[in-house]
Amino acid sequence: MAAKKGERHPLVVPASKVSAEARKRFEADRKQRIDDQAKILSADDMAGLYDPKRGLFTTLGGDFRPVTMDDLLAFRAAVHDTQRLHGQRKGNVPVPGAAGGILAKQVINLSAPVDRQLASKQIHTVIPVSNRGGVVQLVTNASAKSNVSRHTVMVQFLDYDKVLADGNTALEAARRMVAGKLRFDCDCGRHTFWYRYIASIGNFNYGRPEDGFPRIRNPKLMGIACKHVIRVMATINAGATFNLFAKRMIETGRRTLSNKQTPVTVAEQQAFIEQLTKERAKAKRGTVIRSTEESKALRQAQPSYQRQQAARKASATDRAALRAANAKLRTQKADKVNKPASPMQHTALMEAMKAQGYTAKQIARVMSAVAEE
Ligand SMILES: [Zn+2]
Repeated sequence: MAAKKGERHPLVVPASKVSAEARKRFEADRKQRIDDQAKILSADDMAGLYDPKRGLFTTLGGDFRPVTMDDLLAFRAAVHDTQRLHGQRKGNVPVPGAAGGILAKQVINLSAPVDRQLASKQIHTVIPVSNRGGVVQLVTNASAKSNVSRHTVMVQFLDYDKVLADGNTALEAARRMVAGKLRFDCDCGRHTFWYRYIASIGNFNYGRPEDGFPRIRNPKLMGIACKHVIRVMATINAGATFNLFAKRMIETGRRTLSNKQTPVTVAEQQAFIEQLTKERAKAKRGTVIRSTEESKALRQAQPSYQRQQAARKASATDRAALRAANAKLRTQKADKVNKPASPMQHTALMEAMKAQGYTAKQIARVMSAVAEE
């Protein structure tokens, strides 16, 4: 929610503090993951080295039961589907050197409806706190039930270097960077246990990769992003406010030519929130995050859309009736309708052709053809 004038939003804190905290959490997660190795169904296991004596469990099919060799085939099929969806595999063959990254809008479109609903209801605040080249660190609020007060989402804009260098204004460069592909990461449990694996195999993961198949939480590999990432993508996608931040990234980058960490000051963070709040107040359809399909369905349910469609249909009917009447005239009163062109029309045609640079020979050929009709 918006803070009162002069009051600082509770989520606004110095970048150095947020960065240190996030570093600690990402590192703790990595250590935990290494410690859990015995419980991980790793890439090696998936490649055929799994020993059923290890007795790992899955929830595939709804029951909690030991992983079978058939499950491994099903898991591999899900992996291949995900890779095909993201251009990392063609048919059954991995695509060497396939470009990585994903568009912000795609993340929203491919997200699970439940995650979109949670993002709409619970996650309202997004603040960029620092950037290092094209990598931006953002914080979001955590839900009321969470045991932490904020989450860190990392977003790497893959076109940063390119737009920084090519000849465009900083704002235009920023717009193109934001509309381009990105990689992301979040420090929450949902991302860690459901989605980091999908991001890794889909080649849009930022941060530590995950090769452990989510056999318990997400064996069918559904969804793509947690509510924090979804809210961040919606903010990136919404335009104005984030574009201004991105413009500053480009300006700083062009001025310093350095990929050192650039903190967003507390005052700038506060300004970002206030601007975002204003932008949302102006948003026609509120702050609910919708996929392209959902937005389309909503638009089609609007009375104004239906009126427009009815008008379009009516005029299409009119046009069809007019065409039919014309066709009738042409056949029944051929001598009146298909009159030969008048000398004046000939002259006009010749002038027009001359103006367009036709040669005298070309014009003569056209004129003789017209005259013969
Ligand atoms: Zn998250």
